[in-house]
Amino acid sequence: MKKEESENRLLIDVARLDPEGEDLSGEVDIVDLDEEFVKPFGGVRYRLHAQLFGTELLVRGRLEQDFDLVCSRCGRDFDTTVHVDDFTASVQIGEKDECADLTSDARDSIILALPTYPLCAPDCPGIEQKVQETRDDRWGALDGLKVSK
Ligand SMILES: [Zn+2]
Repeated sequence: MKKEESENRLLIDVARLDPEGEDLSGEVDIVDLDEEFVKPFGGVRYRLHAQLFGTELLVRGRLEQDFDLVCSRCGRDFDTTVHVDDFTASVQIGEKDECADLTSDARDSIILALPTYPLCAPDCPGIEQKVQETRDDRWGALDGLKVSK
């Protein structure tokens, strides 16, 4: 799917920014990783507060990106959302700058927030036990019936 170029960058329109600061939110497609085990889908959802202090633009807020990851224990694919709750960026604004580009700041923050050893569940038992667990699930109803005390 072809996207508009503007959707592939996180730009802050400095020229029109409210001097009191402004809350911005939206979604931009900026994490273009092409890794076998790390597949982003959808865009980065952002909720940011941007404010100019003289020539410095300060931006703070939250970022989220959905990923399809591969569990480092059981090898299963799973979907997860990577959150950056304390995204901060500060950009020097020149007199003629109309936009501040936060694309690489936001992209880097999301990538740094990716888990080093992704797990499909905090207590993922790994491959061996996973087979066992599947069987347990199948007999789960019977286990419930056997409780007779
Ligand atoms: Zn797992």
